[in-house]
Amino acid sequence: MSVDRPRMTRRVPLSWGRAHRAIHRVVRPAFPVDASAALASAGPLLPYGMGRSYGDSCLNPGGTLIETQGLDRWIRFDQEAGIIEVEAGVTLADILARLHASALPARHWFLPVTPGTKFVTVGGAIANDVHGKNHHSAGCFGSHLLSLRLLRSDGTVRICSPDENPDLFAATIGGIGLTGLILSAVLQLKPVPSLWMEVEDIRYHSLDAFYALSAESADWEYTVAWVDCLASGTDLGRGIFTRARHAATDRAPPPPRLETDLSIPIDAPCFMLNGWTVGAFNALYWHRAPAMPKRRIGSYEPVFYPLDAIRGWNRLYGKAGFYQYQCVVPQGNAGAAVPALLRAVAAGRDASFLAVLKKLGNRPSPGMLSFPMPGVTLALDLPNRGVRTHELLNLLDQITAEAGGRIYPAKDGRVSARDFQRGFPAWRDFARHMDPHFSSSFWRRVSAPVIEDRTGC
Ligand SMILES: Cc1cc2nc3c(=O)[nH]c(=O)nc-3n(C[C@H](O)[C@H](O)[C@H](O)COP(=O)(O)OP(=O)(O)OC[C@H]3O[C@@H](n4cnc5c(N)ncnc54)[C@H](O)[C@@H]3O)c2cc1C
Repeated sequence: MSVDRPRMTRRVPLSWGRAHRAIHRVVRPAFPVDASAALASAGPLLPYGMGRSYGDSCLNPGGTLIETQGLDRWIRFDQEAGIIEVEAGVTLADILARLHASALPARHWFLPVTPGTKFVTVGGAIANDVHGKNHHSAGCFGSHLLSLRLLRSDGTVRICSPDENPDLFAATIGGIGLTGLILSAVLQLKPVPSLWMEVEDIRYHSLDAFYALSAESADWEYTVAWVDCLASGTDLGRGIFTRARHAATDRAPPPPRLETDLSIPIDAPCFMLNGWTVGAFNALYWHRAPAMPKRRIGSYEPVFYPLDAIRGWNRLYGKAGFYQYQCVVPQGNAGAAVPALLRAVAAGRDASFLAVLKKLGNRPSPGMLSFPMPGVTLALDLPNRGVRTHELLNLLDQITAEAGGRIYPAKDGRVSARDFQRGFPAWRDFARHMDPHFSSSFWRRVSAPVIEDRTGC
């Protein structure tokens, strides 16, 4: 039986930072059988989930994007064991809605790991091996993945798990869409006492205080800090530390947050976000936080997904878009590197309100190119102001590289081949598992040959 190839359109798909714009061919298969036909499209090919990656790792100008949102079927849910099998275009929001609807009084299941937005697909979560506020206790998304089905451009479907095709499994987790199209995945959920959260916010004054709070919060499953990245001098690194855990309560589950009415309908004028407005806002926000831990019980949505409450918040950065910078530096070098990063950001006076600091844990990441390593990660948004922004980002890269750290591909749109290859030494092994017809804008940039500078300059 011959299958028609899904209809192809030409458009400018965006990633979350909206700083990259180029025409792509786009196909959207509705069934796995259409997906096989879609892979016969003109290459290079790249899967595209919800476009919640910030830079160019989900973009492929000159090639074809395979949009996965039509592959959104729920295949099975073993309520006893907490195991789900879903197609790769199912979103974490879909899974949470289903878990809500099926919650039994005595048994609740939850995502084992979730990033800071629920509007990502399972395929996207695997391909970036995403991490969440519980990295120190649960590792990455891929650590809870039991198996996946991968469609290659030669038409074969490979079952991958720790026991079957383990190398391809490890390459696909964190494989930024380059090993083939994930059709479906089997995921182990986590039992939780309820869908309510016990939460504490604590205002802290310095990086030492941040480390002390991280150390004394071992029995809190989720930790993260908002950091005032425009504070300098004796205020360097000050912020608000949030810790949370699932609450033991027999209250009925909180109602799921409905699609929000709050949205940013237009691109904001770029003068709105500048060093003075953000600096003033940060200071106010920090001072208003409780100086002593204040405990509350609330729904999980504001804890995990505060930004999802405002649809299209990325338009606040105006037409030119923005860059998110996220790096991790090894624990041993964090003492010098994190202050150096924060000082560089504060001096640039360009960072936005959105900046977070988190200690990552020791659990080994399952993917060859997984981003996390034991250490400290810093993530912050920078409005795209052209050369000035790139100069600051290059400086941050240099500090990260000198500390033996690396940047997060899910957030990146401009790192050099040299810095990527230094940060991910397994990249050549990974490349052996790539599908020969898959590529991305990100990959073409970071896998380019690096010419070593022998002049010593
Ligand atoms: C507000 C916000 C908060 C975030 N917080 C975090 C966080 O806390 N932690 C974190 O780790 N990340 C975080 N992210 C990043 C986000 O989780 C990742 O970029 C995620 O991969 C996006 O998923 P997506 O479905 O939108 O995929 P896309 O962005 O469309 O694609 C991401 C990658 O997945 C590949 N891909 C997509 N589907 C498939 C498939 N079926 N088969 C093979 N490859 C596929 C693509 O080719 C691409 O390389 C955040 C993003 C936002 C916007």
